Parts: sequence; structure tokens; C-alpha cells
Amino acid sequence: MSDTGRWARVVRVRVLKPFSVRRTKIVVTLGPVSSSLDDVRALAEAGADAFRLNFSHGEPAEHKRLAGYVREVQAEIGRPLALIGDLQGPKIRLGVVDPPRTLELGEQIVLVSEGKASGTDLPLAPAVAVSALAQGHSVLIDDGTVRLRVEKVSRGKATCVVVEGGEVSSHKGVNLPGVPLPLPSLTEKDLSDLELALGLEFDYVALSFVRAAADVRVLRDLIDARRSNTGVIAKIEMPQAVEALEEIIAAADAVIVARGDLGVEVGQVAVPLLQKRIIATALEHVRPVITATQMLESMISNPEPTRAETSDVANAILDGTSALLLSEETAVGSYPLEAVRVMDEIARAIEPSLASRHRIPRPGEQPSIGRAMSNAACDVAELIQAKAILAPTFSGRTPSALAHLRPHRPIIALSHNRYVLRRLALEWGVIPLEMPSCPNIDTLWQRSIEIVRSAGLVERGDRVVITAGTAVNVADSTNVIKVEEV
Ligand code: PEP
Repeated sequence: MSDTGRWARVVRVRVLKPFSVRRTKIVVTLGPVSSSLDDVRALAEAGADAFRLNFSHGEPAEHKRLAGYVREVQAEIGRPLALIGDLQGPKIRLGVVDPPRTLELGEQIVLVSEGKASGTDLPLAPAVAVSALAQGHSVLIDDGTVRLRVEKVSRGKATCVVVEGGEVSSHKGVNLPGVPLPLPSLTEKDLSDLELALGLEFDYVALSFVRAAADVRVLRDLIDARRSNTGVIAKIEMPQAVEALEEIIAAADAVIVARGDLGVEVGQVAVPLLQKRIIATALEHVRPVITATQMLESMISNPEPTRAETSDVANAILDGTSALLLSEETAVGSYPLEAVRVMDEIARAIEPSLASRHRIPRPGEQPSIGRAMSNAACDVAELIQAKAILAPTFSGRTPSALAHLRPHRPIIALSHNRYVLRRLALEWGVIPLEMPSCPNIDTLWQRSIEIVRSAGLVERGDRVVITAGTAVNVADSTNVIKVEEV
């Protein structure tokens, strides 16, 4: 691009007005500083679209109470909110190290299974982690701040040398990059947390440390056996998951770019390009994708983000992320509401510069009718400058297909299915609205317009594009595009 072209783009970006509706969704992690009904209400009013409960922390009674608050606030504000339960997964941890110890560079350390440690041995849990170690493996403690290299393994003991010293204490997380661990994808704790999440009708459960598509399928089978509507989110944080990215994303309902553990496992500098690859692959597979961890880290203790954090959030949006996740910022930070407001502000400033993704089939590809209809609906909406694209939906697939084209016009999903609406709260650019079930297509058209009008989303004289299926209440049957002047 010429210099003039480049400057023209910069100027255009500056003069564009923000959209009235934010497209990128915000996921808020609840924790000690956001644990009252008033906190949840304030976070939703500041812009949260979904709430994450991290099952690695807290007790079931606490999770139940918080889930109840989210549902209460949802009823009050009249906007579907997605509830996500984040399962801890097969996390490796140190056992009890009391008092904390400082490991010195070059020191020899013996790792043993929890329960077998004596003297200065460092305990590791679960026990199978020690037996999976071999000479040359790296042992990264506490997000890689302390690093060991395995020198020798014999009789259930791994002798290591400290290559990066520092303090270690009880139950700190441990990563063993590239070590094939014979661990089930769901622990006993996960199964009991899953039971709680399904009983409370969580909209999604997130699976940590996914290594293969089979891990996702195991969880889905358990959910299906309970006839639950809960979706599965695969957290991409292991090198094995990066290897099997396409299959994992195809097997899941959504994905998280879990940059915290991913950075420890594959090295920090690999994360930016992997983030782009994971987002692009999720978009190809029409799955919502959430970018997570350290997005506004400094706001844990400051009311303003750094320039680098603002750029990071902006770049995730430009990469095409569907949603942004706040972790410690809203769970333990001093400025949870400010963090949500800052994310909202960045998204509104950046989104007008986001290119739409018109999809042209690759040679030999047979695009589905639904995809072709979505492409055409976005084109028509743009050409006639429609106020919105209306997608009455049975399964949620039509609004998702529209969302993945990143149209400039807002997408309004209308459904009588409250589970579908809550899941769509996570989907880029989709405003989920409840409507009664309609007996035929004519009622569907008419009701859709009545509802968006009474919600104040369109006004008399506005043009809208409606896309739906003539077979009402049948999934994947989108075959009509209609233009209406309201
Ligand atoms: C991550 O590792 O980035 C992540 C999102 O997972 P958790 O918060 O469970 O560590």
C-alpha cells in the first residue's frame, strides 16, 4: 500500500463514529470482589454479556448462589446473559509446601508423588505426573516463574536442576510442556462440578487442558446423557490442542484462546500468532471464540489500562474475536466495573474499522444453502443500508452464520427458545430477543418486526432484512431473505 493509502486509512479510522450497539461480547469472571447481587447487576449494566464461574476456586454453594444472581439480574434487565462454568480439568499442582521455599538457581530438587514426599522433596499431584517425566523434560511452576529441568528419573523420583529460581508454595500450578500425561480429561472434581452446572442450567461448560477432540466428545456425551442444552467450550492451552485445532473446534460449540496456560506451554512469543490462527479457525467453523487472560491486567490495581493493553484488546477485536474475557480484573481486582467499561469503550472505538468477511467458496467446496443465504442477506442489508438483519431462529444457527460474516449491520436473533437466546449472548454482533413460538411463516415475519419495533431497535421508515426458513421451527432450514420497510 502507498503511504497516502496508509494515511487515508488512519484518518478514516479516526473519523468513523462508533456503532450505537457494541458487537464484541464481554465475558466477566465473578469472584470475591464481584460476589453480591448488586455487583452482578452493576457488571451487567456496565456491559457484561456473559458471566464465568471458575470452578478452580470457591465452593459449590458459592457457585450456586452466584448463578442464582446472574439469573435474577437477567430477569431484571430483560437481556439474556450466558452463564459459563469453567471446569478445572486435569491441572497438575504442587502438594503442600509449608512453609514456602525459595529454590536457588543450580540447586538439585527431587520431585515425588504427593503423599510420598519426605525431607526436602517437592510433592507433585496427581501421582501419575511424576511417572510421566523423563530426562530433559521441563517442569514449570507458578506460570513458569520457577523452572526445573529433569536430570534423572528412578524409582518414582525425578531429580531436577533449578534453571530459574524463585519461591514455591503449596498447590501452585505446574505445567509440563510436551509431556504425554495419561490423565482423563475430566477429574472426579470436574464430574461433580459438571453435575452442579447441568443442574443449574449453565449455558456453557468450558473444558480446561483439552488435548484432543475426543476430550470434547467425552464431555458432550455426558451432557447429552442428561438431555441438557449446555454447550461445550474447548480451552486451547496445550500444544496437543494446537496440533488438533481443527478437529477440536469442529467438536466444540465455542473456544477460548486461554493465553495464560498457552503462554506457559508453548512460550509467550508464540501466543500472538496462535491467537490469530485459533480465531481464524473458529470463524471458518462458525464457532464463537473468546480471547482470554491478562487483557487489562494492570486494571487489577489501576483505574486506567496501559496503552499496550488497549492495543491488545483492540487487536483481538481486529483479529475477529467474538468475545473478550476478564479474569482477575473482575474477580479480585480493585476496579471491576471500570475494566468492563474500558473494554466496552475500546470495542466501540475499534469495531467500525473491522472488515466484513464476505465468503467466497473455495474451489471444490460445496457451501450449504444456509451459508449462501447468510452471505446474500448481509450483502442486501449493506446495499440497502438496512437498520438491522433480523434472524428468527429455532436452533441459533442462522444468527451464528450471519455473525461469522461480521456484517456492519446489527443482527437481531428472535427465538422462543430461552436456551438458544442465552447461548447467543456470546455470539458476536447478535442481539438476542425473545419472541413467542409462531405457527407459520407469515406470523413469524409479522411478529419479528413487531418485537424489534417495540424493543426500540428500529423505527417507522427503517429498512430491515429478515432471513429465516419457510419450515418454521426446523433447524438449518434457512431459505428466504425478505426486505421490509418497517
Ligand atoms: C488461561 O489459562 O488463560 C485460562 C483462561 O484458564 P484459567 O483462567 O482457568 O487459568
